[in-house]
Amino acid sequence: MRLTELLKSDEVTISCELFPPKQGAQLENYKKIVKEMADLKPAYMSVTYGATGGTSDYTVELANEVCNVNHIPALAHLTCASSTKEKVASVIAELKEHKIENILALRGDIPQNAEFPLPDQYKHASELIADIKAQGDFCIGGACYPEGHPEAQTIYEDLDHLKEKVDAGCEFLTTQMFFDNNILYNFMYKALKKGIDVPIVAGIMPVTNAAQIKRITSLSGNMVPPRFLAIVDRFGENPEAMKQAGIAYATEQIIDLIANGVNHVHIYTMNKPDIAGAILDNLSQIYVRK
Ligand code: FAD
Repeated sequence: MRLTELLKSDEVTISCELFPPKQGAQLENYKKIVKEMADLKPAYMSVTYGATGGTSDYTVELANEVCNVNHIPALAHLTCASSTKEKVASVIAELKEHKIENILALRGDIPQNAEFPLPDQYKHASELIADIKAQGDFCIGGACYPEGHPEAQTIYEDLDHLKEKVDAGCEFLTTQMFFDNNILYNFMYKALKKGIDVPIVAGIMPVTNAAQIKRITSLSGNMVPPRFLAIVDRFGENPEAMKQAGIAYATEQIIDLIANGVNHVHIYTMNKPDIAGAILDNLSQIYVRK
């Protein structure tokens, strides 16, 4: 199923994210996680591609497991900063072969100490999006950054480039995580003013341990509201309490989003079906699973 069919309707969707294993030996265990996550009946499941822009050998295989074995729509991520155009084309061909229709097209992080872009590489996600469109009938999504991408000088410059992505064929956007919903509402207003009118899926990260928040803020420069920092300060040393508080905080964020008309939420579930399940249970009358 093309995700735009879901995202253009007013029905609430809650989707989940998985990451693939680094080694093939772990694949069977990861397939069990896919099944556990699929049993929770998310609207769709995305599978990341590598980490910090790297390549991935198992994204297509796990996305195949999501849609062709567990019958949940799959969104396969694809980054290009660490790949040649030829390598990207081979992944696109594999996706086509497995009838995986939805791609989240990303540049990825630029590899450190590498010359970028080389002549046979894509420079921006917008170039990748245009080429995916030329190579098949895919439903293509892209990333957006409510607090601005860390490389952008201003949010307005970032929005100009976001508009280029949409003009290149990006049919929906998924946001970077944020911990204060007002940041998203503000961003959506600015995006609409720029003429960016594709569905925007709000990315929510349940932070369930104290180390996670330090890693996240150093990687993405996210603003963390004092209310959330107080939770980490109070419960950070108590793993079970921190997990419960993180689930409650993410649940509250999602309820506020839906109450304010943001109907599509993607949970960065980090391969943890127990956390995804707890949030979905908290929302059982708001997101009715089919
Ligand atoms: P782009 O859209 O190309 O933007 C990157 C920067 O370049 C921005 O600052 C933008 O303003 C600027 N820019 C864009 N076009 C131009 C132009 N024409 N001229 C000048 N500047 C321009 N990483 C992974 O490795 N694997 C994943 O699976 C993955 N999944 C992600 C999912 C989501 C929802 C998000 C939000 C991020 C994800 N990332 C992933 C991280 C992502 O790869 C990085 O944030 C990366 O640095 C940027 O990728 P992009 O596609 O947003 O790049």
